[in-house]
Formats: sequence, C-alpha cells, structure tokens
Amino acid sequence: MSKNLILVLNCGSSSLKGAVLDNDNGEVLLSCLGEKLTTPDAYITFKKDGQKHRVELADRHDHTGAVGALLDELKKYGLDADVKAVGHRVVHGGEKYSASVLINDEVIAQLEACIPLAPLHNPANLTGIRAAQAIFAGLPNVAVFDTAFHQTMPEHAYTYAVPRALYKKYAFRRYGFHGTSFRFVAPEAARIIGKDVKDCRLVIAHLGNGASITAVKNGESQDTSMGFTPLEGLVMGTRSGDIDPAVFGFLAENANMTITQITDMLNKKSGLLGLSGLSNDCRTIEEESGKGHPGAKLALDVFIYRLAKYIGSMAVAAGGLDVLVFTGGIGENSDIIRERVLGYLGFLGLKADHEANLKARFGNAGVITTADSAAVAVVIPTNEELMIAHDTARLSGL
Ligand code: ADP
Repeated sequence: MSKNLILVLNCGSSSLKGAVLDNDNGEVLLSCLGEKLTTPDAYITFKKDGQKHRVELADRHDHTGAVGALLDELKKYGLDADVKAVGHRVVHGGEKYSASVLINDEVIAQLEACIPLAPLHNPANLTGIRAAQAIFAGLPNVAVFDTAFHQTMPEHAYTYAVPRALYKKYAFRRYGFHGTSFRFVAPEAARIIGKDVKDCRLVIAHLGNGASITAVKNGESQDTSMGFTPLEGLVMGTRSGDIDPAVFGFLAENANMTITQITDMLNKKSGLLGLSGLSNDCRTIEEESGKGHPGAKLALDVFIYRLAKYIGSMAVAAGGLDVLVFTGGIGENSDIIRERVLGYLGFLGLKADHEANLKARFGNAGVITTADSAAVAVVIPTNEELMIAHDTARLSGL
C-alpha cells in the first residue's frame, strides 16, 4: 500500500535541511543536509537507517540542485512516488499568517512582502519553495511559520514603547519565533500532568543555538522572549539577547563601528561565544567551565540567570505556573543548566529532583521536580519536523 510521505524542508541562504517523514507514524525515513549551496564546493549529506553518505553537488550546486539530488536519493529506495506533499519551514509570516497555509501565488506574494521583516531568512525559504515546485512538480506545498503561533499575543505584549507611527508604517512590533516547537510541546506538557492544554499555565523554554521562552495560557501564546527579530530575549549561542539599544550610538561614537558591524556582533559574536571567547556550543562551555575557565564560567552564569529571570516574567504572562518545560538541544540535555535554573525558582514552588533530572537526557522525557513541588518542571524533546509534516498533510487533504 502506498505511504503518506511528507518532505519537510528548512532552507537557509546556503543550506538545506530536509527530512522525509511517514505522516502516519512519524518515522523519519531519510534526512539530509545540504551545505555550502550556491558555491562550487556545495555538497549534500544523506542519512538513512543511521548510515550517512555524502554527495558532491558539483554542477548543480544551488537549492534546486540539492532538492534534485534528494529526489534521486528517494528514487534509489523506491520512495519517490510515496512523497505526497512538501512542508516548508518559513521564518516570517508577519501579521498575515496565524496558522500554516497551502502555498499558492498569493501566498508567495505575501512571503515576498514579508522580506523586509526577515531579510536573511524569507528569501532563502522562498528559494526552497521554488526548488520544491520545480523538482516535485505538481505536489502541494505548505508554509509553516515560526511566527504564527505567537499571533495570539495581546497588544500590550507585542507592542514596543516607541512612537506608534513605527508600528503603523513598518509593522514594527514583537513577533516571536520557534512557534512550531512551542505548538508541538504545549499539548505534550499538558498530557504529562493529565490536563488539557487549554487548562494549563505553561512556560516553555526552547533552548537550542537560538533560544526563546514562551508563556502559554488557554493553549495560546501570551508572550515570548524573541521580538521583532530573533535577537531579543535570552542569551543564545552567538546572540546577545536583551541589550540596551544605546549600545549602537555608544559603539558608533567610541569604537567607530557601523550599524552593520554592531548588528553582526550582536547576532554572531555575542552570547555564549562572546562571553567565553571559546565557543557557542553549550557542551564546550559546560566542560571548560567545569575546568575553571573564567569566560566559560561567566557565560554559563549569565545564561542561567537571564533564563531564570525570564521564567519569572513569563509566569506573569501566563497568569501563574503549572508546568515549566525545557526543550531544544540544551533544554533536552543539560542537566547542569536545568538544575541551576530551578535553584533560582524555589519561590515559584519548583524543587529539582536531582536523580530525575539526570535521567531526563538524550531523548528521554520526564518530570524533573520533586513530588511536593507546587508546580512541575518537565523535559520534552521537541519535534518541529513532525509538526510541519502533520500541518502539511492536513492542508494537502491527505
Ligand atoms: P538548533 O537551534 O541549531 O536546532 P539544537 O536544538 O540542536 O540547535 O541545540 C544545540 C545546542 O544544544 C548546542 O549548544 C549544544 O551544545 C547543546 N547540547 C547538545 N547536547 C548537549 C549536552 N549533552 N549538554 C549540554 N548541551 C548540549
């Protein structure tokens, strides 16, 4: 019997992440990562059944070439005819999209209109859509937005205290990102405490290379730490998170830096990397901090304190706290960060269960607070690809 396979694509300017999922059981049958796309060194790595192999893209080194190589790979296993639709991770849907959408010409025009809001990401996402339309001709394509879940934020949460004209003229407001992950994790968290998501006050920390935290009440996003761009909020791998915007004037005058240089520094050279001077990778930071490296130690201290502070503020947005969720690469694996964050949160009634916290790693979900805690903290591995596949199948009528 033919399967309902969904191809999920996540395109960057020179990269392409792909996964082919069986929508009926969530199994990933094939995944790939195309890198250095648009350069002569472009290649794509395929992973199937735990085995990896690399294909040089040579004369087909753009995104369309990479999707073509993916189709060839699917043909090798006789899976190509079972792919029924393509789901695209799209970073920015502006105020127009509060849910995923079947892609047509009008949607493409809207995504183009959103380019000023996400000048790096949306053009790459559009490239991925065009590549899929060319190679998987005739299949439905669906856009799943990082911003969509946060469109329920109330006006007082998404509005910056700047002249109102900036919002009216440029749609300058807070949007938030990682929405697909929050949307996946929220009902899972509710299930763990035996409630419906509509009856829970949740604070969800998605901690990966990029990191953000969201308050969920009545199943809807109430506030989130990322803003107009993903730069706002928590300390991240290479991003500063919150900072006094006066840094722009100060560095322009005193360090002779341009706006572009400062923006680049805040996005790519700050966070764990900037503070430690070593790495953006949390594992390295934890290791070196353990050996006494002062920069790594400070990076971890600032990361943990900022996160705990934000959990407190998101509990305000959620109207209280029933469940605190840790997800993303750091949230799912770093027992050290989780336990230290919980150490700040005794006043919210959270007490870490040391043994349970150690166990909830490497893909294991679980409660990590003691039974007498007033609220529950849990670890839940996120699965954005599955969420995208489900949306894609539903909107494609599968
Ligand atoms: P992305 O945002 O790129 O999807 P991930 O969600 O995969 O990133 O998270 C990557 C982060 O997770 C890195 O900082 C990595 O060091 C961290 N991480 C992965 N495993 C561990 C671990 N065992 N302990 C601490 N941090 C970890």
